[in-house]
Amino acid sequence: MGMKVIKTADASQTEKIAEIIGGNLHGGEVIELVSDLGGGKTTFTRGLAKGFGSTDRVASPTFTISKVYKSGNKEMHHFDFYRLPQAGLIEHELADVLTDKKCVVVVEWADVVKHVLPAKRLTINFRQTQEDGRELNIKCADELSYLMEGLPEA
Ligand code: ADP
Ligand code: MG
Repeated sequence: MGMKVIKTADASQTEKIAEIIGGNLHGGEVIELVSDLGGGKTTFTRGLAKGFGSTDRVASPTFTISKVYKSGNKEMHHFDFYRLPQAGLIEHELADVLTDKKCVVVVEWADVVKHVLPAKRLTINFRQTQEDGRELNIKCADELSYLMEGLPEA
């Protein structure tokens, strides 16, 4: 398991970090984003999608649960299970995209689907340090270490 801590001073820096990781995605990867509300998960996803090559608008899928951002023939599936006591039918949708090599899966509030997520994933914990300061704690399965390439040293 690779680990890295990166501090960002504002939302644009968080997006930039995410954009680097997004540019390393091939398809088939799973990214779990963990924080309190307002921690920066959706902001991070915006950078990820940009780096992945998508120009689709990234917004919180809190009320729709999932959104798709296209990049060529690849797709980023963005799930947000905030406040859902159980995943219900969406769990099947998630299980399907998890096995699709052209899809990247990004999940916010993953607790209700933890049992479905592979151990081979990138997990990022966001901690608010100041009003606009965040500490990103990145944990990366060894097989996905290529996702960390190009990140600044901590
Ligand atoms: P979440 O999806 O975790 O609830 P959002 O990304 O929707 O969080 O919201 C994060 C909010 O915090 C945004 O308004 C963003 O502009 C702001 N923000 C301030 N500083 C940062 C930072 N360093 N990184 C990410 N977001 C930040
Ligand atoms: Mg969000």
